[in-house]
This record gives sequence, structure tokens and C-alpha cells, in this order.
Amino acid sequence: MTASDANASATRLAAIRQRIAGAAREAGRPTQDVTLVAVSKTFDAEAIVPLIDAGQRVFGENRVQEAAAKWPALKEKYADIELHLIGPLQSNKIEDALKLFDVFHTLDREKLAVALVKARDKGAALPRLFVQVNTGGEPQKAGIAPADTDAFIARCRDEWKLDVEGLMCIPPLDEEPALHFALLEKLARRNGLTKLSMGMSGDFEKAITLGATHVRVGSALFGARA
Ligand SMILES: *Cc1c(COP(=O)(O)O)cnc(C)c1O
Repeated sequence: MTASDANASATRLAAIRQRIAGAAREAGRPTQDVTLVAVSKTFDAEAIVPLIDAGQRVFGENRVQEAAAKWPALKEKYADIELHLIGPLQSNKIEDALKLFDVFHTLDREKLAVALVKARDKGAALPRLFVQVNTGGEPQKAGIAPADTDAFIARCRDEWKLDVEGLMCIPPLDEEPALHFALLEKLARRNGLTKLSMGMSGDFEKAITLGATHVRVGSALFGARA
């Protein structure tokens, strides 16, 4: 990575932060209500460090194995990094994920909830939790169906004593994301949840307008993924 590459990522970060602030202002919301999760999947430490040097502290990864290969060293060097898991979590990776991540955005099934309870019973500290909702009802996508979301949140609270903080969605590629953001906001509000993980490089401003508290931005910060 050359000095000008590092400069370029700092410039992109500043531009994204400015756009977040603009969207928040337009929505009449304080900018601090919106956390930028810098999605660093597929990018190595060399690409990540310039963003850390520019002040970014919250990062997202979608694969446990990839995150385990690059983040422990970075977390050791920069103590205040907050790492978010934004991809599906397989049951056999839970232990590794608990060691690495501060926030899971992808609590997407009963089996995972039960596994988290088991880990907690054995003494593990649980991360902050978002329930992933499959707002588009896509068979290939993870997440709780919208119609089952109220019941799932209730079970998290009452049966499993899991402290769910918010909801997360990934709208279908070929649909208007605003409809999905609005649905997620409605589901969160009626369940008394205040956090919404929604919006990516192409639509984070719209998501902020509709209440996003966590936007997950990858390519607009790091460039296109290979
Ligand atoms: C990759 C990814 C993102 C970031 O996508 P960009 O379009 O590159 O900003 C956001 N959320 C999830 C769940 C992802 O897997």
C-alpha cells in the first residue's frame, strides 16, 4: 500500500462520514445516532490500517475464519476496535466468533439462540445481538420471516433471556430497499427495539432516512471487492 492509497482511503472515509451526517441532518436525527460499520471483508490489514489511522474503530466481517486470520493482531494493537459479525454464523464456529466479535448482526434462527444460551451457561460473555430478518422472504437468505419476528423476539427475551438490541436486514437486490427498511423499522418499533442495522454502500442514506442506527458500508470505503 502506497501513501497515496492510504490517503485515498482516508478521503473516502471522510466523504462517507459527511454523507452520513448529511442524511442524518436531513432526517432531523443526530449524526451520533448512526454508527458506520466499515465492512472490511476480503481486504487485508494493509488496507484496513489506514482507516484505523483515520479514526475508524467499528468494523464488520462476514466470515469467522477470515476475521480470525486478520483481526486478533489488529485488536491487540488497537485496543478500542469494535468488531461486528454481519454474515451467517455456523454452529461449529460459535466459539471462535464469541472470542472475536463484539456484536452479532445475524441471530437468525432458534438453533443459534439456544447455542448462545449454552455458551453463556458455560461462562461465555455474549456479544450485543441483532436479529436478522429476511424481509424479502428469499429462500437462499438467512433470517427470521417477518411474520415470525415478534414471536422470535419474545422467545429471545422470555425463554432464552437474550438481550436483543435491534434488527438487521439485507434487502433483495432487485427490489426497492426503502420498502424493506420501512418494514424493519416497523418490526423493531412495535417490539420496543431501538437499533436498526440496515443500509450498505448503495443505499445507506435512504436507510438513515428510515431510521438506520448502523450502516454497513464496504465497497464505498475500500473500493470494489475482487
Ligand atoms: C458485504 C456486506 C455489506 C457491505 O456491502 P457494500 O455494498 O460493499 O457496502 C453489508 N452488509 C452485509 C451483510 C455484507 O455481507
